[in-house]
Amino acid sequence: MDGRALGERIRAEVAEEVKGLERAPGLATVLVGDDPASDIYIRNKHKAAREAGIDARDHRLSKDVSEEDVLGLVEELNENDEIDAILVQVPLPAGMDENRVIRALEPIKDVDGFHPFNAGQLYLGEPTHVPATPLGIVALLDEYDVELEGASAVVIGRSEIVGKPVAHLLLLRNATVTICHSRTKDLAERARAADVLVVATGRAGLVGADEVKEGAAVIDVGINRTDTGIIGDVDPAAADRAGLITPVPGGVGPMTIAMLLRSTVRAARYRRGLLAYPQV
Ligand code: NDP
Repeated sequence: MDGRALGERIRAEVAEEVKGLERAPGLATVLVGDDPASDIYIRNKHKAAREAGIDARDHRLSKDVSEEDVLGLVEELNENDEIDAILVQVPLPAGMDENRVIRALEPIKDVDGFHPFNAGQLYLGEPTHVPATPLGIVALLDEYDVELEGASAVVIGRSEIVGKPVAHLLLLRNATVTICHSRTKDLAERARAADVLVVATGRAGLVGADEVKEGAAVIDVGINRTDTGIIGDVDPAAADRAGLITPVPGGVGPMTIAMLLRSTVRAARYRRGLLAYPQV
């Protein structure tokens, strides 16, 4: 499953939508501290946003600022009418209450879907902002016509960013969903029963080739840096058994950015009365 190609197409669609707006959507990113990985993510998001015609603003705070300073910036961005979407890059520096900062976001501007209101709406199956990676995963499955209705879907990983929200999205699409994690017994057996297998653990090679069902659709979310480059959580040899599989890199990664841009333009259209409610 080629996430680069689909991601590019979605970004082109977003750029078209942006052209149709009187004013460019405003996206503000907030980065606290100087984590190099976060810096790269933010740069990539800004580059993609600019290419789509989004007015992206980069807010950087030193790692020594107080939680109140971060909350003050969030409040300012909430009140700024030119800003439609706010991304607070996580993790925040140690000692900061991440939940408190996320809770301070105006839910409609929380395009990452981390605010409890948005997470709750997803749980209830109501329209809302949903984290970008799970949205990208379902978009890829749809692009390749993977049947979700009644399918046995196994999600390995239960984070708030990937595992839980993707499990909810698959459930909303009437898949029978099993969520696995580090304490799951018989992980291999469960994986082998999956028509749709989503692996999001950050453990390189966790799923071996013989743990994939013949013909399954496999989504490898993992990003593991090695001396020879980035690899996923699934042994690439699984491609021989899987019906469909995402490469790493070039699978889920490019979809995440594309869906983030799509959520941003939807937040803008919603805020301007052009959309009944964003997403799902
Ligand atoms: P977290 O570390 O938050 O969660 C990892 C999950 O994997 C946990 O639920 C954990 O279980 C589970 N897990 C860990 N080890 C095992 C194991 N041996 N067997 C079964 N389950 C296990 O990670 P994220 O969800 O944030 O990210 C997962 C991966 O996806 C990372 O590599 C990350 O870099 C990548 N990622 C990629 C994105 C993209 O755009 N391509 C976007 C976001 C993430 P437990 O809860 O029991 O600890």
